[in-house]
Amino acid sequence: MASENVPLVDLRAQYLALKPEIMAAFEEVLEGMQLFIGPRQRAFEQEFAAYCGCQFGVGNSSGTTALELALRACGIGAGDEVITVSNTFIATIEAIAIVGAIPVFVDIDPETYLMDWQQLEQVLTPRTRAIIPVHLYGHPVEMQPVMDFARAHGLRVIEDASQAHGATYQGQRVGSFGDVGCFSLYFSKNLGAFGEAGICTTNDPELAEKMRMYRDHGSRVRYLHEIMGSNARLDELQAAVLLIKMPHLERWNAERQAHAQTYNEQLRDVVEAVPVVRSWGTHVYCYYVIQVPDRDRFRIALQEEGIGTNIHYPTPLHLQPACAQYGYKPGLLPVTEALASRIVSLPMYPELTQKQLQRVIDAVKKHAGSLTSHSA
Ligand SMILES: *Cc1c(COP(=O)(O)O)cnc(C)c1O
Repeated sequence: MASENVPLVDLRAQYLALKPEIMAAFEEVLEGMQLFIGPRQRAFEQEFAAYCGCQFGVGNSSGTTALELALRACGIGAGDEVITVSNTFIATIEAIAIVGAIPVFVDIDPETYLMDWQQLEQVLTPRTRAIIPVHLYGHPVEMQPVMDFARAHGLRVIEDASQAHGATYQGQRVGSFGDVGCFSLYFSKNLGAFGEAGICTTNDPELAEKMRMYRDHGSRVRYLHEIMGSNARLDELQAAVLLIKMPHLERWNAERQAHAQTYNEQLRDVVEAVPVVRSWGTHVYCYYVIQVPDRDRFRIALQEEGIGTNIHYPTPLHLQPACAQYGYKPGLLPVTEALASRIVSLPMYPELTQKQLQRVIDAVKKHAGSLTSHSA
């Protein structure tokens, strides 16, 4: 029955819960007709930065743009090398390419699927200028050794925290460790607008000012263009949505964590791997990623049961056609490459009901079990 289907994410559920507030705010913005660089953007920037433990927030038009603004503000450009991971969303790499820099990859920890900081030394060259650790799926990267390495070699650190709003490392929120923290506020992230939006967090007033200028045509004062900038502003309608959603973020993350715990308890002995949480961090489960042996057949079986799944991500970025220009070959990142054919993301959003969780668990038990015996 269609009503029993469990989608990968259910964005309507969150919208319906907040609909009266959101509609009222939209009306207020539209009656006032101040659509950009207005009071809601400023209020959201302050609230979100404070939430992350940062002094400054610079709202902008997407997570991709946030990374681009951060790189530009840090002076990263043509020919500079930026170390990051291949197991991430393409936007991390696009931002590096957009500013003319070159992405250099390290492999990942086979348990957390995140940047293996022990490999940083191996890829360091005289042209290395920055590191972009990606807090993928909602789990923090181990930041202390990354920061130590960066400081020892004079490198900038730009955190890609687009999947980790509120996640902590040693009790401190991500986005507050590097020179800049970059967050997507795309509608399906832990905190999402109803269109495109992003934000940069920083404690450096100069970087904050540069990012504000880049997002608004290189201007501090209208029609005085001090540097070559862009059009990358956060609009007031999106800021209004974000201000309404912001007070719910902690509860939503707690609900995601509760769902993950239920999945973990029920699936630990059924699938090949459930998500790991390091003792020094908290996980906010933007995605709930497991490993199963015959992944593609598993996905089809779940789809037939009306359960949505996805793969984050099916092809490592260093092997994508868009990265052919860099000449990376299969075999460069064995952990990343092996993982890509085994991972699958299960339904995960705060509004999941116990009944829906149980349906997913029953289906996974049924199909992951039979697959294991087939492949044995
Ligand atoms: C979503 C995402 C981005 C890009 O954000 P957009 O708002 O879609 O531009 C960047 N990095 C990661 C890891 C993401 O998940």
